[in-house]
Amino acid sequence: MEDFPLNIPDFGNADFRLFAAAFNASSNGVIITDHSQPDDPIIYCNKAFESLTGYSRKEIIGHNCRFLQSNDRSQESRILLKEAVKKGSHCQVLIRNYKKDGRAIWNELMISPIRNAKGDVSHFIGIQNDVTKRVEAEQNLLEERELLDDKVRERTQTLEESEAYLSAIVETIRESLVVLDKQMRITSANRNFREFFKISQQKILGKEIFEIGHHQWDIPELRELLFNILPHNNPIEGFEMETEFEAIGRKMLILNARQMTLKGKYQDRILLAIEDITERKALEHRKEDFINIASHEMKTPLTSIKGNLQLLEKIARRRNDESYFKGFKTAGKSIDRLERLIYELLDVARIQSGKIEFSFETFELSKLINESAAIMEAEFPSHKIIISGDLNNTIEGDFGRLEQVMINLLSNAVKYSPNSQSVRIHVACLSDYCKISVMDSGLGIHSRDHKRIFERFYRADEISEKFPGVGIGLYVCSQIIKEHHGTLWVESEEQNGSSFSFTIPMKQK
Ligand code: ADP
Repeated sequence: MEDFPLNIPDFGNADFRLFAAAFNASSNGVIITDHSQPDDPIIYCNKAFESLTGYSRKEIIGHNCRFLQSNDRSQESRILLKEAVKKGSHCQVLIRNYKKDGRAIWNELMISPIRNAKGDVSHFIGIQNDVTKRVEAEQNLLEERELLDDKVRERTQTLEESEAYLSAIVETIRESLVVLDKQMRITSANRNFREFFKISQQKILGKEIFEIGHHQWDIPELRELLFNILPHNNPIEGFEMETEFEAIGRKMLILNARQMTLKGKYQDRILLAIEDITERKALEHRKEDFINIASHEMKTPLTSIKGNLQLLEKIARRRNDESYFKGFKTAGKSIDRLERLIYELLDVARIQSGKIEFSFETFELSKLINESAAIMEAEFPSHKIIISGDLNNTIEGDFGRLEQVMINLLSNAVKYSPNSQSVRIHVACLSDYCKISVMDSGLGIHSRDHKRIFERFYRADEISEKFPGVGIGLYVCSQIIKEHHGTLWVESEEQNGSSFSFTIPMKQK
């Protein structure tokens, strides 16, 4: 390293030369001003001061330090410095200075007086430290913190707004909603809840849901389900309850409840939604009653028509009258279809009331398959029934009911494959189960309907206008198979045919 000339004034003190040599090696800028001269001129600067300010020694010596402040003269730290110089005291400030090229730097400046033998201040020594990077980092941090504060403020405001928005929705929604805390105490209930149950806010807030009213909500099963929500995030879906309420009478309710997912103050809360299904259930019952009564009422005259038609057919046959004979045959088929529909409707009613009966027996699988196929071929000569698989087994079940299933599946297969000439039955015996599949190459079923077609009165949109039907056949079939401890399902793609299969145990337990 090149030696920086000491260039020190002669204070007549050898020790000072030693210190000055040390100053030159320092990375801090060091200056000395002569206080005995007017305007405190700089009489010494070290090398670091030159590089710190960008000024050369010759531009520094003789000047007052104020040139470092450029035109930025209103800083508070400047006043502190001035006072310290006046009083001849020590002072440390952070001051904004300017390099020769105009760039601002942050200077951590320390000034100390040097006193002569009489105790008067003769000089000031100034040590400068460029802390621009640190100050800038601090400023950035501050700005970021402010930005963050702004964001938090903004977010809080949005949250408050959305809370108000949410509570407006909750208040206007036509469903009864209640919020519960961990201990199942009601923290809020919306207007619909209060109006529907005719109960005031004061009577429920802070109370355990089980103790409100006449303890109508204190149902052990509901208790268990509710207490299970928070620990395991286990929602309640479709819990039905029927209870007498003093103010509003007997009600059938359906409950859904889940943990509230809003983090923070709503974290450990449960949102309970209560739907009144009393009317809907009553309507369903009336519909079921109607179906039941109507099918019963239709059954008697139909039996009479059928009997008389058979009688007339016999007479026509005896008289060998071809034209009558054909007419009777067509009418007979229509009556069979009508009869099947009436029996199915009656089955629906029986299933609903749990009154459907089964009589189990052991029979040959081949008998079930061949007889069903024969009935179908007689009724729908348009389609051939192709049978494959292993039919050499006996199974235990209700023959009549299983035949009903087969005929249902086969007639659907025929009905929904108008452009093909055959449907297939495949039988397989797998372990102690027997699997029977009915396959067609018809219109197929969209995957969204694969489950729903087994519901009562459900028909796929695409076909409901083009094909007659009421949508109960598959429902009855699935109930029959369920009673046989088996399963019924469909595999199908739109326009690619369908395959309905059921499995039942070969032996019923
Ligand atoms: P229905 O045939 O009287 O409508 P089902 O309960 O037997 O009543 O069938 C319910 C629905 O399932 C039908 O409306 C139809 O949409 C669909 N479906 C049943 N079988 C088939 C099949 N083989 N191919 C295509 N769709 C079918």
